[in-house]
Amino acid sequence: MTVSPVRTGLPARTAAAEVLHRVFGYDEFRGNQSEIIEHVSSGGDALVLMPTGGGKSLCYQIPSLVREGTGIVISPLIALMQDQVDALSAVGVRAAFLNSTQAADVKADVERAYLAGELDLLYLAPERLRVPSTATLLDRGKIALFAIDEAHCVSQWGHDFRPDYLQLSMLHERWPTVPRIALTATATEQTHAEIATRLQLGEARHFVASFDRPNIQYRIAGKNSPQQQLLQLVRSEHDGDAGIVYCLSRASVEKTAEFLVSNGIPALPYHAGLPATVRAANQSRFLRDDGIIMVATIAFGMGIDKPDVRFVAHLDLPKSVEGYYQETGRAGRDGLPSTAWLAYGLQDVVQQRRMIADSEGDDAHRRKLSAHLDAMLALCETVECRRMQLLAYFGETSTPCGNCDTCLSPPESIDGTIPAQKLLSTVVRLQRERNQKFGAGQLIDILLGKRTPRVEQNRHEELSTFGIGTDLTEPEWRSVVRQLLAQGLLTVNSDGFGTLVITEASSQVLSGARKVSLRKEPERQAKRSSRTIKAGADLAPEAASLFETLRTWRGAEAKELGVPAYVIFHDATLREIATARPTTLAGLGTMSGVGESKLEKYGQKILEAIAAA
Ligand code: ADP
Ligand code: ZN
Repeated sequence: MTVSPVRTGLPARTAAAEVLHRVFGYDEFRGNQSEIIEHVSSGGDALVLMPTGGGKSLCYQIPSLVREGTGIVISPLIALMQDQVDALSAVGVRAAFLNSTQAADVKADVERAYLAGELDLLYLAPERLRVPSTATLLDRGKIALFAIDEAHCVSQWGHDFRPDYLQLSMLHERWPTVPRIALTATATEQTHAEIATRLQLGEARHFVASFDRPNIQYRIAGKNSPQQQLLQLVRSEHDGDAGIVYCLSRASVEKTAEFLVSNGIPALPYHAGLPATVRAANQSRFLRDDGIIMVATIAFGMGIDKPDVRFVAHLDLPKSVEGYYQETGRAGRDGLPSTAWLAYGLQDVVQQRRMIADSEGDDAHRRKLSAHLDAMLALCETVECRRMQLLAYFGETSTPCGNCDTCLSPPESIDGTIPAQKLLSTVVRLQRERNQKFGAGQLIDILLGKRTPRVEQNRHEELSTFGIGTDLTEPEWRSVVRQLLAQGLLTVNSDGFGTLVITEASSQVLSGARKVSLRKEPERQAKRSSRTIKAGADLAPEAASLFETLRTWRGAEAKELGVPAYVIFHDATLREIATARPTTLAGLGTMSGVGESKLEKYGQKILEAIAAA
């Protein structure tokens, strides 16, 4: 079945509300969806900044249904186009895609359907537009609008740059009267401005939503044994949940996935070094099966719209706040409580500073990378609310959130001038008296007065700072070193060995002209204020049992159709049905997420399940 088109000449607003209700089964627009949809439906250009899970898709899907012709969606997410089309087909929208993975006859079918005006939405990979025949094809049909999804891919300095996005300015040149809507979940001023310029969206109205994701609990922990810490997180808070674990290197992705599997936790690896078929298979299992943990490099995740990812863990320090916020935003798209957890340690800072020093490109580029890292470090070392700091990074002011680690168990800010002086003067002495440079390990051994073979070999016990730091423990010293690095009072030498040297600012600390404030970890690490709500655990017993029945039915149905379970119905919809127990099709149709098409397809079966329960 396909939904009947709306093009009845109704005012855009009424037509949009009608489609929202009838096709998607939702009662109300969220945030500024309504304004955006009305604006684009009436032919305006729009630039939309909305966080992950904010509801961007409807902003171009509904105008595509309301306007005459086919909405052309430019998306870099080739591997997810099938799922996107499946999800639309499930609600009766006529959608298809064209990309390099298709056989010629399949492509020909899609082209024919487009020309015959049988498509509401057509997804295109940006590289298709490089082929002149694509533009000719589009010209021969009727274009309702262009949607440029993941629009931040046009930003050359951003983390997801796609060269093919640069030529999307041609859309405006070739089809000046077709409305365009560019959408992204990347929110910095800089990216925002860059999108507008590069896509020639000069006339577009800008819609900027709040980037707050209140259901995600932000936590940043000191890193000591990251795999064990991760295991603890999964076992104590996210047993059986789907999650994403980000690691910096391919090797650590594989090791971490193996570690989880050897501990009986279903985990899969994903990185650019794996064969494309393995990547596709792992992604597909993550989307389709329940409770899989994907261990991945940042190559994974853009466009993943699995709504029930319950946690995102970072085992290495991300390179920028922007990237970090995008990655963590993949948790909890369904609005239920979720966790963003990051383990961060001294080695992360050393490694990243080193990578920046060794990176290709000019000084300006290195300064940019450094500025990104500094912002990330400031977030890690803050004693203020994490969310306030995150939102401030995106230009939003807010108040303490009550749902991050610093709000739940506030760390102290202490005067660390004396430990800083002890450490810095050790660095200075080694350099002046011995012409030597060392990494953090040796510096800490000296301060703690440890007579290791390396200390004795270098006669470091003769230094005047030997043993002057026994008032702190080794982990505390590591934290001091880490924070001095983060504050730019110590830096990594460019010799490639990770040795530490002082900076210009260090001398002010040594002379006593500058005080150093340090973050002292709270005694107890923050525990979740409430445990994760297991999908149906908070429902009344009868509803919970019906919910489980419906989930089992949904699982079987999804397997048969070869689509992710959430394409059939979201957990949130099944919860509502299980609680309300409607007895008629009309009643069922009022549940959020039950539109015309799904009601026709599944309504009877669900009513039977309710009656039998
Ligand atoms: P984004 O692309 O911004 O990350 P999506 O478009 O995937 O977000 O929407 C996130 C989730 O919210 C989806 O599951 C979608 O079905 C749901 N959603 C979007 N708009 C509404 C609405 N007005 N009412 C209820 N649910 C909505
Ligand atoms: Zn907070």
